Amino acid sequence: MDARRLSSNTDPSSSRLRRRAGSAAFAAVLLLSVSFPVQAAEGDAPGEHPAKALVEQSAAAVRTNPEDSRRSAEAALALLRRMPDPDLEIRARLLLCEYLAERDLAAAAAQADAAAALLSQARRPGLRAGVLVCRGELRENEGDSVGARRLYDEAVRIATETQDEEMLASALFSRAYVVGIRGEYAAGLSDLRQAQALFEKIGMPHHALTTLNGIATLYNRMGEYGQARDIYRRALEQQRAAGMLREQVVTAHNLGRAHENLKEWDQAREAFGITLALSRELGYARGEAYALRGLAAVANATGDPEGALQALERAAELQSHTPDMRLKAQILLARGIALHQLARLRESAAALEEAVQIFRTAESLHELAASIAALAAVQADLGYWRAAFQSLAEAKEVSERLLRNQIDQRFATLKIEFDTAAKEQENALLMRENEANARALAQSSRLRSLQATVIALTAVVALLLAWVALHQRNSNLRMRELAMTDELTGVPNRRAVLGRLEPMLQRREGEPLSILIIDIDHFKRINDHHGHPAGDEVLRVVAAQLREAVSEPAFFGRLGGEEFLVVLPGTRLVEARRTAEEFRQRISAIDTSRWFANGRKITASIGVTASSERGDTLSTLLRRADEALYCAKRSGRDCVRVEPPERSAPAAEEPTAQVNIDLAHQ
Ligand code: GH3
Ligand code: MG
Ligand code: MG
Repeated sequence: MDARRLSSNTDPSSSRLRRRAGSAAFAAVLLLSVSFPVQAAEGDAPGEHPAKALVEQSAAAVRTNPEDSRRSAEAALALLRRMPDPDLEIRARLLLCEYLAERDLAAAAAQADAAAALLSQARRPGLRAGVLVCRGELRENEGDSVGARRLYDEAVRIATETQDEEMLASALFSRAYVVGIRGEYAAGLSDLRQAQALFEKIGMPHHALTTLNGIATLYNRMGEYGQARDIYRRALEQQRAAGMLREQVVTAHNLGRAHENLKEWDQAREAFGITLALSRELGYARGEAYALRGLAAVANATGDPEGALQALERAAELQSHTPDMRLKAQILLARGIALHQLARLRESAAALEEAVQIFRTAESLHELAASIAALAAVQADLGYWRAAFQSLAEAKEVSERLLRNQIDQRFATLKIEFDTAAKEQENALLMRENEANARALAQSSRLRSLQATVIALTAVVALLLAWVALHQRNSNLRMRELAMTDELTGVPNRRAVLGRLEPMLQRREGEPLSILIIDIDHFKRINDHHGHPAGDEVLRVVAAQLREAVSEPAFFGRLGGEEFLVVLPGTRLVEARRTAEEFRQRISAIDTSRWFANGRKITASIGVTASSERGDTLSTLLRRADEALYCAKRSGRDCVRVEPPERSAPAAEEPTAQVNIDLAHQ
């Protein structure tokens, strides 16, 4: 296969087409990205603007079907006329600008102007970058890559300032392309790498993929055809899987260019064939023109200049409807080469001269060098030796410039790669450090809160335990009190009074101690005559009298039934007898009128004894007191008797028979 003809390093059409892909991607980025943050931020999800869905549809269709994209954007604008929303309108207009940039520069510029007029009302300041990018594309299509570059620079600056990551990614993507055309590969690669990282970061894998294609195109321009071809191949597969028809047109074309540069003609033909078929399917005239130019180049290289001319005629016809000067020049270049092969030298020279003119204006060195070299060959065949020599010299000069540039740029690229890697490493290190710090901080704060919880819980548990202990103690005390208290009268019971007396007897060291047993007389009769409740009441009243009369260190309690025991520590028998007498009188003085209508009195007999000097036990002491009590009962009741008996008991203290008789009679 003749591989001589199209040996230029350039990839003119690919650049143009890729540019389209770039802007398509850009528009989609712009629109999709604008919609989410703004909507989310303003929380208008529930009552979303009806145009929003259309704008998003339009953005999505940019990558698949440009006609659909235009229809959705126009429908959105119709809605927005009735319900204005500056942000949505800007996005819709930018989408139309995107669509028209390939078809009608003036109409596209009108959309950009309309979008720009709305910027002052926009909620999202980053949209300014979007308008600038669109204007940049128009400049680029006019062949003014210097002006385009300025606009992209400004877009990058604004997107950076407004911290609009999606806008920044898109602006960088567009700038990389125009920078690449002008041979600044390193700068272009740097932009593309940054854009790719941003797209990945903000969750836009399709855009990241398109950006990767941009990187491949730069490789292609730098002469790294093999690498470029491999990237395109992978990208094409992914785009096919994702159904990105429009992107496939671009990638297939770029792949064809890489094969063309590698002189892999069969594969190049296949790739351009795919481009042609997809473009026709989409009604994408520009893609078709690029595909035909590619097929013509393959025809030229494989000895079919007639076929090439045929394809180029159709390509030129399609191109005349699209504002793409570089595509025109590429078609002219292929046409010049075909005509040269057919020995139509003058026509060939004319075509090539026109191509040279356009490439020179666009500062497209690859294409310029290729065109001048082709022109020099034609001039030589025409016998225009001087012109041929001058052309060859210029071609050589441009090629050398390109080569130098490539070498410089490769060094610069290496440096950027190195710097980026170093920066990434530094960032990763910083990030790891930050993460570690954050982890440590979180851990210590967790520890602190845990400590606080433990302390609080401990306090609660301690309080609870204290409360339980207190409650226990109180209830123990209460139980003890209940166990020691006579239920009916509320005075100490038998266990309490004896429990207190017994240790006193054991401890006693010669101190006197007396006890009295007080027994209500004929109590049974009270019960019998007045009822048990009256008896209870009598018991309570007697107990109350004793409580009043007995004071510390003396104490008393109910022994059981109608008997009470009074203990008089430090009291001798004589005194005890006196006290007993007082008690007896107190009891007999109780007012009984509320129970007994007949004036009956309550009387009690009292047995008194003192602990002997030899020492007494509880039972000996109680027995003696009981004996004294028995003696009192026998003596007629309502009297006091002591044990051992006093030698000379005064007669006056003998029981009053009156009372006893009185009681006996009731
Ligand atoms: P004495 O003069 O010989 O002591 O005769 P008395 O009736 O007082 O003695 P006795 O031992 O014959 O009767 C005591 C009565 O006390 C018998 C019992 O029913 C009554 N009694 C015992 N405990 C209570 C009580 O808690 N309430 C009432 N209402 N009666 C009680
Ligand atoms: Mg009794
Ligand atoms: Mg009695």
